[in-house]
Amino acid sequence: MKSFALLTKFLNTFELNHKDQPEFFQSVQEFFSSILPFLYDHSKYQDISLLKRLTEPERIIQFRVCWIDDSGKTQINTGWRVQFNSSIGPFKGGIRFHESVNISVLKFLGFEQTFKNALTNFPIGGGKGGSNFSIKKKSKVEIERFCQSFILNSYKYLGANTDIPAGDIGVGYSEIDLMAGMMRKICGDSSCVFTGKSLFSSGSQLREESTGYGVIYLTELALNYHHNESINKKKVLISGSGNVAIHAIEKCIQMGARVITASDSDGTVVDLEGFNIEKLNRLKFIKKELNGRIQQYSEEFGLIYLKDKSPWSISADIAIPCATQNEINEVDAEIMIKNNIKIVVEGSNMPVTKKAIQLFQNYDILFIPGKIANSGGVIVSVLEKIQNSTYSVWNKNKVEKEMKKVMKNSYRTSIKYGEEKKKVNYVRGANIASFVKVADAVISQGSI
Ligand code: NDP
Repeated sequence: MKSFALLTKFLNTFELNHKDQPEFFQSVQEFFSSILPFLYDHSKYQDISLLKRLTEPERIIQFRVCWIDDSGKTQINTGWRVQFNSSIGPFKGGIRFHESVNISVLKFLGFEQTFKNALTNFPIGGGKGGSNFSIKKKSKVEIERFCQSFILNSYKYLGANTDIPAGDIGVGYSEIDLMAGMMRKICGDSSCVFTGKSLFSSGSQLREESTGYGVIYLTELALNYHHNESINKKKVLISGSGNVAIHAIEKCIQMGARVITASDSDGTVVDLEGFNIEKLNRLKFIKKELNGRIQQYSEEFGLIYLKDKSPWSISADIAIPCATQNEINEVDAEIMIKNNIKIVVEGSNMPVTKKAIQLFQNYDILFIPGKIANSGGVIVSVLEKIQNSTYSVWNKNKVEKEMKKVMKNSYRTSIKYGEEKKKVNYVRGANIASFVKVADAVISQGSI
């Protein structure tokens, strides 16, 4: 009872103090609600100052980013770096460039990242950064100027042993290369401050593919564990058409699954025959080289295009959201349940709302949270850091083998903490396992 009262009091105050930060409150509420039974049984963690330390970022840096557009005008955006928790190791987490970026979104991402990173068992803390700058309709030169200015205004706070960023929405290897290059130029130091670099700039094999591939690897593990089945021949819904989505589709094709949707913020393409390599290569080209949209892709192949719609009303076996937060709400979940969806796996961060997760769990639909499923990216980032620091270069097989080993371990740990009455609550399992790791470090380091 004590833990329930304590948590209720903490969350009520937290909500009052974060009324203007809905995404951050959502992630904190979901996290702590899921571990309540564990807190109940462990008096060591029933301490409001511990909960406060875990939810208050160590530092937030906000800065102005000025850049000159192609018409010669000065443009101004806001940049942030949220250094959430470094009790296990240096802050580590992506940079997001998107018009929807604000402090609430970055705090939720930094909070989630802290626990996702802890679950990998690597000695890394959690952080996140970004800007409300959109790369859409920008020329290559404008993006270069923006990236350089972003680093000019934030380099003092980053470092190989302090804060190590990577990519996220709107930031792929080309933006990372530009930022890593500027960092090296200013500091005169070539240590690995950024991960997610291209192979030209000493990135790791498989980093680009890692998050999407890892999501499918985890889907296969879970299908195997619970249903003794494989992803082969399954019908899959994927949202998004960026880095995570494209590589998830690629891995599905390699493993014989039929991906029947992809999307962007304007709409969804439906292809009941499923993607093949030729179609996927064309989608990659349209997105990367032509800066194009899903609508253009669907028109080229004469496919169904659902304007302003997400993929979730289409009938399939597996759903893998890979675009952004809060993509699946309870209305979507009800439709998916009626359509007999078998498993929902989070490729993006917090894509499924709390009510929708609850519905999936009530109907015994396997639900795998992003903390386990999309950790392939951060895992290969650490492998990139290891390679850079030891002046070594690993081949693709070695990187993939190591990534799978770490993911399997996180998966098993989540089962250990999430098993209840012959079922597994993966949200609870992943959250408890990572909470214990971060909370123990915070407690052992005292009131700092
Ligand atoms: P990209 O920028 O490469 O792709 C993002 C995709 O999501 C695009 O198709 C984009 O469409 C769509 N999208 C973005 N915002 C919205 C929105 N508000 N509504 C609908 N669609 C939207 O990003 P990533 O693929 O790298 O990241 C996708 C998700 O995966 C994010 O949640 C990210 O945090 C998470 N993730 C990424 C990792 C990585 O290694 N890259 C690692 C772990 C998690 P549009 O072009 O129309 O905006």
